Amino acid sequence: MSETAAVPTAPLRARAEIDLAALRANVRALRARAKGAALMAVVKSDAYGHGAVPCARAAVEAGATWLGTATPEEALALRAAGLDTRVLCWLWVPGGPWREAIEADIDVALSGMWALREVTEAARQAGRPARVQLKADTGLGRNGCQPADWPELVAEALRAEREGLVRVTGLWSHFACADEPGHPSIAAQLTRFREMVAYAEEQGVRPEVRHLANSPATLTLPETHFDLVRPGIAMYGVSPSPEIGTPADFGLRPVMTLSASLALVKHVPGGHGVSYGHHYVTPGETTLGLVPVGYADGIPRHASGTGPVLVDGKWRTVAGRVAMDQFVVDLGGDEPPVGAEAVLFGPGDRGEPTAEDWAQACGTIAYEIVTRIGTRVPRVYVNGEEEG
Ligand SMILES: *Cc1c(COP(=O)(O)O)cnc(C)c1O
Repeated sequence: MSETAAVPTAPLRARAEIDLAALRANVRALRARAKGAALMAVVKSDAYGHGAVPCARAAVEAGATWLGTATPEEALALRAAGLDTRVLCWLWVPGGPWREAIEADIDVALSGMWALREVTEAARQAGRPARVQLKADTGLGRNGCQPADWPELVAEALRAEREGLVRVTGLWSHFACADEPGHPSIAAQLTRFREMVAYAEEQGVRPEVRHLANSPATLTLPETHFDLVRPGIAMYGVSPSPEIGTPADFGLRPVMTLSASLALVKHVPGGHGVSYGHHYVTPGETTLGLVPVGYADGIPRHASGTGPVLVDGKWRTVAGRVAMDQFVVDLGGDEPPVGAEAVLFGPGDRGEPTAEDWAQACGTIAYEIVTRIGTRVPRVYVNGEEEG
């Protein structure tokens, strides 16, 4: 399999190493935490930047029985790669592609009447029922059906089911603040979810799965697990928030290690401006290292002057601005060889920063740090095969 080929021996400008053994172990740790519930591996947005197809395969090997994507294109790409696991896809706009999804056996999420109308029409044309999952807005205030509109959506879905146009396979919702322990909206959403599920079941819906839990809820709120949990970020070994804990607290290990090869190491005098705008000026005679990745590779420009990098055993900080393709670190007189490895983030056990460290340096969340790593950075898959 080319995606899981051995590490190339040629030196690379930059690489995102993806440890599939860590991903499999994370999936197993999450399954152990949600005993009795099935696990949907959320692989939207190219598996949060880790590569959708290899990660989906590894998650399935570790026992995930569902895959989750945002867009239908992402769901169809999993099918095109030969994955036949159940897939739920939840972000639709008018026009579908509903028919392609029905023919590819994808479960489609419906948040409103417009979507039910479009999918039943596509099912009529396809000559087979669509598998649909009704999404309740229990308080997130984003996608999902408002409680006031729920009776109509449930009634019309049941009517379509009687006509053989849909099969209602799931009832589900999504949390707003599950990563903030004790937030009052958590209990309110859980109560509302139970009410909306009970209503639909009283009306005659017979779902295969009821589900609500994202990563933080999978990790910390067992009462929200129902039939299925939907972790994303935790599967990639990143904690949903430092408030909840570190990955190690939950037996999780970061899957992505981002590194680059120094493109230049040089001596400069004191008082030398560094990078666009000269926002860093060398405090004295020193050495500078050129790290050949920039905002085009997904390194946040907000990391200018703050992002941490491990070079030659020491933490260095982005000196001056992150440019499109490169940034500079002050090596303080050290002279690592050109080509030496600069580790931006990884699991942390070689002393390198983590994606969470980058998130804090940039005022964002670790989800964004890993997901935004661009396509110009090759993903190098390691431990693709199960041992023994
Ligand atoms: C992204 C997403 C998830 C996974 O969220 P994490 O916080 O990464 O676990 C689950 N469900 C839905 C609907 C999502 O959009």
